[in-house]
Amino acid sequence: MLAETKFAPKPLEAPALGEPYLLTPGPLTTAYSVKQAMLRDWGSWDGDFRAMTADLRRRLLALTGDTRDEFDCVPMQGSGSFCVEAMLGSFVPKDGKVLVLANGAYGLRAAQTMQYLGRACTLIDKGDYLPPRGDEVAAALEADPAITHVIAIHCETSSGILNPIAEIAEAVHAKGRKLLVDSMSAFGAVALDVNEIRYEAMVSSANKCIEGVPGFGFIIARKSELEAARGRSHSLSLDVHAQWAHMNKTGQWRYTPPTHVVAAFLEALRQHEAEGGVTGRGARYTRNRDVMVAGMRDLGFETLLGDRWLSPIIVTFFNPAHASFAFDRFYELMKDKGFIIYPGKLTAVDSFRIGCIGQMDEHVMRRVVEAAAFSLHEMGVDTAAPPAAALAERAKLAA
Ligand SMILES: *Cc1c(COP(=O)(O)O)cnc(C)c1O
Repeated sequence: MLAETKFAPKPLEAPALGEPYLLTPGPLTTAYSVKQAMLRDWGSWDGDFRAMTADLRRRLLALTGDTRDEFDCVPMQGSGSFCVEAMLGSFVPKDGKVLVLANGAYGLRAAQTMQYLGRACTLIDKGDYLPPRGDEVAAALEADPAITHVIAIHCETSSGILNPIAEIAEAVHAKGRKLLVDSMSAFGAVALDVNEIRYEAMVSSANKCIEGVPGFGFIIARKSELEAARGRSHSLSLDVHAQWAHMNKTGQWRYTPPTHVVAAFLEALRQHEAEGGVTGRGARYTRNRDVMVAGMRDLGFETLLGDRWLSPIIVTFFNPAHASFAFDRFYELMKDKGFIIYPGKLTAVDSFRIGCIGQMDEHVMRRVVEAAAFSLHEMGVDTAAPPAAALAERAKLAA
């Protein structure tokens, strides 16, 4: 028998279909109907599939609030990083220069992509999680007139921070430069309305907040930028202009499309719309986060970020300081209970992450907290309080 601690064991329901919930930022837990939509083969050349592609483009574009018909949507095969690379290689001229705003792995990956492309790039690196602010962006642009483009990460999934995209966009626009946004883990749940936030192009993928399965991403860009992208790409298959022109002319993808993934994505888009679009989806994720964070804090866990910066996408928690806590064991105990969590990505202190996105609601999140409580109990951990070093790290945000 386990000793009684304040983390009293509670019975748990079995997860849906016996699969664990993926509390991860994509691939994530999808609806049964989304999986079911893949049980049929489509001819990529056939009119039915071409209509599906057109529908997908139209529905995605509608999520940006583009009522003036200034933007277009270009789906692209591959994972999200392929699409970021396609966007950078197509919209940044060969003699352009990019300012990358980094505060985690995805910002650094954008900078690395620029290096691969052999195009000029400079970096504001805020470390693991501090937000890049509008005034520092303005100062960097002022200091270096050669910078033509800025790339910002909307939600930096490494820490879960929701970066201040509106103030960044304002600073970039005021200095007459162009903004590219990696909204991979935010688009569909956090508004990125073209009437409110000035950007030239953004990128996201099928397996994040729209809740499809992995296999493609999409670039939404100003048509004027798409026109200007002709002949710029370093890559045949990642050429956004070529894909766009071909799709507009033929209705087809240039090379083999992930047909089943597209069919699943359309079902996911219908559910997204039925839930109330970006607002409805964002509200459910926000409730997921609020219930989960409140429950975890009750257990003594502390979040890396203060409430102002917490995204409704994924939350970083410090590992408990208790000597009996080991992340690998905690991970396995959570998995036994039907929940796959995610290791942390901070360099200074140990952490883990819990995602709020995918087919789950606040009831599931309550069970996540119960599973965490019981897992600690099984490990003999009677408090989830983090080490002092973690709290000292966090104090940097307030400073
Ligand atoms: C998921 C994600 C990506 C793309 O990652 P892939 O593994 O290539 O799909 C890029 N940027 C951010 C912010 C992400 O969350």
